[in-house]
Amino acid sequence: MLLDSHGRQATKLRISVTDRCNFRCTYCMPEEGLVWQDRAALLSYEEILRLARLFVDLGVTQIRLTGGEPLLRRDLPVLVKGLKALPGLQKLAITTNGTLLEQLGPALYAAGLRSFNISLDSLDPVRFQASVRRDALQQVLNGLHSLSRWPDCEVKLNTVVVRGHNEDEAVAFARLARLHGWQARFIEFMPLGQDDAWAQHSVVPGEELRQAIDRVYPLKMLAPAGKNPAARWGFVDGTPGEVGFINSVTEPFCHSCNRIRLTADGQLRTCLFSLRETDLKSPLRQGLGDAELIARIQDAIWQKEAGHLIAQPQFERPLRTMSRIGG
Ligand code: SF4
Repeated sequence: MLLDSHGRQATKLRISVTDRCNFRCTYCMPEEGLVWQDRAALLSYEEILRLARLFVDLGVTQIRLTGGEPLLRRDLPVLVKGLKALPGLQKLAITTNGTLLEQLGPALYAAGLRSFNISLDSLDPVRFQASVRRDALQQVLNGLHSLSRWPDCEVKLNTVVVRGHNEDEAVAFARLARLHGWQARFIEFMPLGQDDAWAQHSVVPGEELRQAIDRVYPLKMLAPAGKNPAARWGFVDGTPGEVGFINSVTEPFCHSCNRIRLTADGQLRTCLFSLRETDLKSPLRQGLGDAELIARIQDAIWQKEAGHLIAQPQFERPLRTMSRIGG
């Protein structure tokens, strides 16, 4: 098992397959983008599959594919198929900005993918463009709606809420979730961007959004945050769909964190806000055996941080930005 010194077990692995992205979200990267990593610096699918097998053998039951924008990585269905075939893996999911979903969704579905999280910060085309610096809302909505052809697909929306930008759209997102039976999740703004854009006053507490929705669509709690980062709420009137609140800043859930991350360039991160990483790529390419890799992984996870220190005097923003961590 992958235990840490705080008594938590890591069972969820987020794998970033690329640092590239076709969006320029203001809270993630500058308008001009970032210098992308060379292809050779990224783990190949064979390397990802080998590491994923080790993690699953060590008790990881869920894998989430992330980026940058994961659908930009060529032949992604090949990796999906390989991961789906791993004995012991219970769930495979992806987080995408949705722009390529209408095009690539069928191949991903055919490869076995059934769980899609779509990042969508606004339903207003002007705000959307201001937030991601691309005129692509319709493309994202087309991708999102293309998933409706597969009733066995789990669809979740991820909305990063920033004060003064999109907090007034919470009810509209809840309405969309009711209409399609999706889960609309609201993520508190976190300091993970390229610059110092983050400030405590820009954070909209999830509880504030929950109350705003509850006034229009009365809610009932389904599950608190913990093993899942989102506190899940259903609709009292029985309408399908849910809303979720990821209150990392105002109601941290680090005490029950079960998540670890593998970056596209093969670094193991034990926390979203880690200031240190464990290189798995070099030993892999130097021909280390499974036992040595496992020892390195278990050692790193044993030292996993207790939690983030956001808004505390000793907080340090990680040098690696969101697009290179994979959220
Ligand atoms: S901040 Fe780190 S420890 Fe806390 S929930 Fe996120 S990944 Fe886990």
